[in-house]
Amino acid sequence: MSRPDLTPPPPSGKRLSLLNLPLDVVTLEQTLDRLGDWMFRAPRAPHTVVTLNPEIIVQARTHPEFVDAVQEADLVTADGVGIVWAARQLHRQEVPRAPGYDIVRGLMERHGPELRVFFLGAKPGVAEQAAQNAVRDFGVQVAGVHHGYFDPAEDQRVADLVGASRAHLVLTAMGAGRQEVFNQYWRQVLAAPVLIGCGGVIDVLAGTADLAPAWTRKLGVEFIWRVGLDRKRWNRAPRLVQFVRLVQVERRRLARQG
Ligand code: UDP
Repeated sequence: MSRPDLTPPPPSGKRLSLLNLPLDVVTLEQTLDRLGDWMFRAPRAPHTVVTLNPEIIVQARTHPEFVDAVQEADLVTADGVGIVWAARQLHRQEVPRAPGYDIVRGLMERHGPELRVFFLGAKPGVAEQAAQNAVRDFGVQVAGVHHGYFDPAEDQRVADLVGASRAHLVLTAMGAGRQEVFNQYWRQVLAAPVLIGCGGVIDVLAGTADLAPAWTRKLGVEFIWRVGLDRKRWNRAPRLVQFVRLVQVERRRLARQG
């Protein structure tokens, strides 16, 4: 589909600013390449990955620690169509999507048995199930598992546990915001080459939550399915409205600046 009104995609590797948060222009394939380098080729050092979505942007307005966690992330990808739309509105640029689930699945498919994964998050028992399924489907090594319902006073104990596991990849799935702040604050203790905040991915791997249907993922509108069908998520719809408003206000501000 041609978009004559838009400039060509910016060179890959470029970092845009979206409502004061960074966004890297990278495809899924480039993301998998870069994370593969960090895990298996570069000197071992911790890196944080954020998959940016409207919810994080809205929450960041009132939580400065979320802002820091995203600004200091080593890679920030566009999780969904909301972010792609915002980049068009504010920069007139096409940004590829690299959603959390696709990144995690892609890494497991690519690296299989050489990959040591720590599953951190979701309700008790779910991370264990996700780990079993990942071993069955991709042959990955399980570095460890821990649920995501612990008190902040326990953060250090859990971070030490992860650090001792020598994982390559830590899946931190404890809800948007909390997971990014945890990864950033404890990165040196967690000490894995890739720390990714990945929302409901452990639930999907465990089979306790369904992946949104393929057609919504292809169009990048899986949030419509999630918000629409899941009663617990109905209270999130106002955040999406707020996100659209924020982008519109920012667009007018940028237009005034010329
Ligand atoms: N979760 C968790 N600890 C918490 C809150 C949430 O481990 O304190 C888990 C939850 O069980 C789910 C994942 O984080 O597996 C994503 O939760 P939710 O969909 O509520 O968050 P979102 O990422 O959509 O904000």
